[in-house]
Amino acid sequence: MKTEILKLLRSTDGYVSGQQISEQLGVSRAAVWKTIRRLQDEGYQVEAVRNKGYHIVETPDVMTKEELDSLMKTRWAGRNILYYETTDSTNLRIRQAGDEGAPHGTLAVADRQTAGRGRRGRTWESPAGNSIYMSVLLRPDIAPNKASMLTIVMALSVAEGIGQWIPMIQIKWPNDIIVNGKKLVGILTEMSAQVDYINHVTVGVGINVNMTEFPEEIADTATSLRLECGHTVKRAPLIAAVMERLEENYEIFLKTEDLSGLMDRYSALLVNRDRDVRIIGEKETYQARAVGIDHTGELLVRREDGSMEKIYAGEVSVRGVYGYV
Ligand code: ATP
Repeated sequence: MKTEILKLLRSTDGYVSGQQISEQLGVSRAAVWKTIRRLQDEGYQVEAVRNKGYHIVETPDVMTKEELDSLMKTRWAGRNILYYETTDSTNLRIRQAGDEGAPHGTLAVADRQTAGRGRRGRTWESPAGNSIYMSVLLRPDIAPNKASMLTIVMALSVAEGIGQWIPMIQIKWPNDIIVNGKKLVGILTEMSAQVDYINHVTVGVGINVNMTEFPEEIADTATSLRLECGHTVKRAPLIAAVMERLEENYEIFLKTEDLSGLMDRYSALLVNRDRDVRIIGEKETYQARAVGIDHTGELLVRREDGSMEKIYAGEVSVRGVYGYV
C-alpha cells in the first residue's frame, strides 16, 4: 500500500484527501493514516492539513522497493525489485535470482556492497549511503556471442539517464561513464550460458552519486555527481530514469540483434572520439586514433600507418595518451 499511496501523493502538486486515497485503494481511512505515519517515520515529509488532505513535501534519499516502485514508468525494466541495505554484490544477487527463475528486467539495488566487482577480477569501491549499486537481469533470445553488446546498450542508457542531471556526460568505451575526464560509473556484464543458448545475462552498474572522497588509488580518476553538479542528487529518480532509457534502447537492440540503431548515439558520446588512445592488450600496447564503434560494439581505430582495426572489448584496456582518458 505504501507504493500506491506514494504514487497518489506524487501524482499531484496539491493535496490528496484521506477519503480519496481510501476510496481509490479500497482501504479504511485509519489504514491510510497509519501508512502515512510509517512513511513519515522513514523520512518522507508528508504534510497533513485538515479539510485538504495530504501533500508530499520532501522525499528521503532512499532506494527502497516502495520508493523505486512508485517512480518506475517502465513496462519490464526494474518492475521486479530486490532491495538490499548491504549485500556482497548485486551482480551475484541477480545471477542467483536468474537461476531461480526471476523475470526479465528484475532489478537488484543495494546501498552498500561488501564485494563490489569490476572487470577481470578488479574491485568496485562500494561504501554505504551515497552511491547506486544495481544489476539488471536480462533474458535475451540471442546467440551468446552477442551478449557483450548489452554492455554498450547499458552504457548508453546510463549516460542518457544521468544526462538529464548533468549534460557533459561522456562514455569511455566500452563500459565507463566519464565526466570531466573522470570515472562516474562502471558497468560489469556477466552471462550464464550454454554453448548456443543464453540462460541469462546480468548487467551491473555502479554510479558514484554523492561521494565526496575516494580511496587514494582512484582519487585522481574517480568522481561523483555531487562533486560535478555541486549539490546532492537523489538516487531513486536516477535509477528510474536509467531503467526508462534501458527499456527503450534494449528494444531497439533486439530488433536487429546488433547496435545499428544505437551506435550513432553512443559514438557521439565517446570521450576519445577522434583522439589518440593507447590500446593496452596482453601482447602489445600501441597508439591509434579512436573513430567510433561499429554495429557489433567493437571500437574502430586508425593505426599510424592508416590501417583500420577493430578492437574487441574483452581483450584490452583503452587509455588516453596522457592519462586515464
Ligand atoms: P579499464 O578498462 O579502464 O582498465 P575497467 O573498465 O576494466 O577499467 P572496471 O571493471 O569498470 O574497470 O572497474 C574497476 C576499476 O575501476 C578498478 O580497478 C578501479 O581502478 C576503478 N574503481 C573502483 N571503484 C571505483 C569507483 N567507485 N569509482 C570510480 N572508479 C572506481
